[in-house]
This record gives sequence, C-alpha cells and structure tokens, in this order.
Amino acid sequence: MDSQQTKRALVTGGNRGIGFAISKGLLAAGYEVIITARSLEGAQQAASKLGDGVMSIALDVSDDDSIETAAKKLTQDIDYLDVLVNNAGIYPDKNIDVLTISRDVLETALQTNTLGVIQMVQRFLPLLEASPEARVINVSSGMGSLNGLTNTAPSYCLSKLALNGATIMLSQSLQSKGIAVNSVGPGWVKTDMGGSSAPRTPEQGADTVIWLATEAPYKETGKFWRDRAIISF
Ligand code: NAP
Repeated sequence: MDSQQTKRALVTGGNRGIGFAISKGLLAAGYEVIITARSLEGAQQAASKLGDGVMSIALDVSDDDSIETAAKKLTQDIDYLDVLVNNAGIYPDKNIDVLTISRDVLETALQTNTLGVIQMVQRFLPLLEASPEARVINVSSGMGSLNGLTNTAPSYCLSKLALNGATIMLSQSLQSKGIAVNSVGPGWVKTDMGGSSAPRTPEQGADTVIWLATEAPYKETGKFWRDRAIISF
C-alpha cells in the first residue's frame, strides 16, 4: 500500500461505551474508522453521530458466520487495515460465583470475550498483513490479571485471563509478520457495563487504546497496558 494512505481502524462494539470513545479518538487522530455493532442500525447510528470518515457494519464476534459475512463485505471496499481494536465484551456474571456458575454462562463469556477475538484476528489477517505497520489491541480488564481474579465474576475473569493468554500467543505468531498485539485494561469506566459509580469516563478508558493504536513504540508487542504503562498479566 501507499505509505501516504489514510490509516484505517476497525473497532468492534464501537457503537457505545469505551468502543465509541475509541472510535471518536481515532477519528480525531485522522484515522478512517469502521464501527461494528451487533445490529447494523446501532452501528449506523453511532457512525452518523461521529460524522464523515466512519463506516458501519453489523458484526457479532461470537458468531463465525457473522464475522465471515462482515469480512467479505468489507473486503469489497477496503484492501488494508492498520488497526484492529477488539473491544466488544460482555459481563454475564450476576449473583453467581465459581461454585454456582453454569457451563452455559462460562461458554457465553468465552465465546464473546476470548474466542471471538481469536477468530477476528484470523479472519482479518489478510487485511492486516496489507498494512506496513498493523496493530491489534485487545480490550481486556484488570479482572483478567492473575492478581485481579475474583470468585464472584468467574466467567468474566476467566474470559479476560484467557484473552490475555491469546494476546501473548497472537503476538508470538504475528511478530514475524510485523503485527503488534497488546492487551489494555481501561480501568473502571462509567458505561452500561461499568455502571454509574465508576470513576473513569469512556474517554479516559479509551486513552491507552488510542495511544497504542497511534503513537506507542511499534516494537511493543505481547504486553498488558494500563494508563500508557506496562502492567503484569
Ligand atoms: P458496554 O458499554 O456494555 O459496551 C459493550 C460493547 O460490546 C457494545 O458495543 C456491545 O454491542 C458490544 N458487544 C457485546 N457483545 C458483542 C458481540 N457478541 N459481538 C459484537 N459486539 C458485542 O461496555 P464497555 O464498558 O464499553 O466495555 C468495552 C470493553 O471494555 C469490554 O471488552 C469490557 O470487558 C472492557 N472493560 C470495561 C470496563 C468498565 O469498567 N466499563 C472495565 C474493564 C474492561 P451491543 O450494543 O450490540 O450490545
């Protein structure tokens, strides 16, 4: 690709919360942004709030057919992708702990928060490989670090712990292709997921993701970040 071409980023779950703030920040940094949401209407509404330079597409990260359809559709319009932000996530743990949680709930969290990320990277790899400096950023959580695990949010914690594992493995596999892969913990953020008591704004939660996408030293890969600094997995 031409090195002067506009940088392009795709943000999963970009229609609200931290994903919307990431999309807004990347747009402000001059990136062309593709917002994905489970519903096309949700993606379109978010894109229209941000204005020109924003594409929208329906994509459910827990469904391989949906990932395939979105990738095929996008490939008709774009031939490279510089940044993939795997932001979409769920927190299905309610009034349960590790002794009472069902296999179904565990699977639901893993499908979206972990396995969806691996499938997204696999399917969008040809577009990422067409960028001279591609970056994959996985929005994880401090609750997925070894010292952040809690028995009252078992599916969320395990899915983010496993996501961090996927970040390490993907970074190893993609290093030879020059693609950086990192995890970010956004902190406790005021969103539908984080609730109204959370101390951070979506913009504060989005800051390190935007920094990793645009400014961070490109050699940094396979790490876990919070507030633009490396933290322990
Ligand atoms: P949010 O407001 O609940 O937004 C979640 C986003 O993920 C929505 O856009 C949602 O889309 C999307 N999503 C959920 N399941 C999906 C699926 N199967 N396929 C595609 N999109 C899906 O949550 P948030 O606080 O912004 O969270 C964003 C990320 O930050 C998550 O990965 C979360 O785990 C992480 N995080 C958040 C906090 C916090 O305090 N808020 C703390 C640590 C980490 P729909 O509109 O279609 O539901």
